Amino acid sequence: MLVLGIETSCDETGVALYDTEAGLLAHQLHTQMAMHARYGGVVPELASRDHIRRAIPLMEACLAEAGRTLKDLDAVAYTRGPGLGGALLVGASVANALAFGLGIPVVGVHHLEGHLLSPLLADPKPDFPFVALLVSGGHTQLMAVHGIGQYEILGETLDDAAGEAFDKTAKLLGLPYPGGPMLSRLAEEGDPQRFTLPRPMLHADSLDMSFSGLKTAVLTLVTQTQATLGEIDETTRKDICRAFQEAIVEVLVTKSLKALRQTGMKRLVVAGGVGANKQLRAGLDTAAARRGLEVFYPPLSLCTDNGAMIAYAGAMRLSQRSPAGSFGVAPRWDLTTLPRP
Ligand code: ATP
Ligand code: MG
Ligand code: FE
Repeated sequence: MLVLGIETSCDETGVALYDTEAGLLAHQLHTQMAMHARYGGVVPELASRDHIRRAIPLMEACLAEAGRTLKDLDAVAYTRGPGLGGALLVGASVANALAFGLGIPVVGVHHLEGHLLSPLLADPKPDFPFVALLVSGGHTQLMAVHGIGQYEILGETLDDAAGEAFDKTAKLLGLPYPGGPMLSRLAEEGDPQRFTLPRPMLHADSLDMSFSGLKTAVLTLVTQTQATLGEIDETTRKDICRAFQEAIVEVLVTKSLKALRQTGMKRLVVAGGVGANKQLRAGLDTAAARRGLEVFYPPLSLCTDNGAMIAYAGAMRLSQRSPAGSFGVAPRWDLTTLPRP
């Protein structure tokens, strides 16, 4: 079964072709980062308009990359939600129009189910059940995943998501939008010993997390350092980035290990944009190796938003005969309410 996947939930237009026998055949992406950068964040109306411009050319590029035509498609999958209403409507309209025109099924995919299942696009891929650490720009959750549609939330952030904490802290340090990846690059050159920031809720019994205090702690550190040093120099900025990353990574690693202990599961799956973070990957790999646990990641290019994860999740839903939805979007949508196939 050949599935076309379309992702338009936020500021990335992603289109991909996934074949249930041959795997991922093509994957095209346009990021609107540069367009939104001058506003310091995503402007929803601009995002929707850009998705309109990009969706069809990206689809054509995908078909060309895979050497296929529209007639070869067996189904279309699109991101139904959660996300920006207008942006979602673009993907929903394109997908439904295509499917209607071609007389093939269309399936509306949950964006987080896409992220969650994206490590299954890697080789080797994890078997169910596993614990999933979903760390994206809008979500930070630990989940017990027993199978497709069987998602149990074990713990989550009580305030900012991990990616959001990266981006807000980067902004506070004067890094250009979106700062997360740049903050992490600077952190690699920073001294881990110079500053220490708090690890919120590290030893709390629950698997919940909290990251908004960390951002405030960085602000305090910046103010104090400015008072003693004057301007923050490059080295100091790198050292602050490092202190921030050390704190957030320690919390994520500790909570993930706790979730594995609590569920008795042996496999951890990491998904979402922050899953691209090198220090997080190294921290999890080291901790897991010591305990005989396995950690799985999506391919680096599929950590942030993309069409491949939507095509894949759509293919899983369709092959398990999950009921296809009617035309529509769901800007707010709770993952745990998804039906079991
Ligand atoms: P959601 O999926 O929750 O709706 P989103 O789609 O915006 O949110 P993703 O695309 O999965 O989230 O990830 C984007 C986030 O990942 C941003 O916050 C970005 O800063 C963060 N990110 C990307 N690369 C890195 C990195 N190397 N280190 C830390 N954070 C990163
Ligand atoms: Mg994005
Ligand atoms: Fe996302």
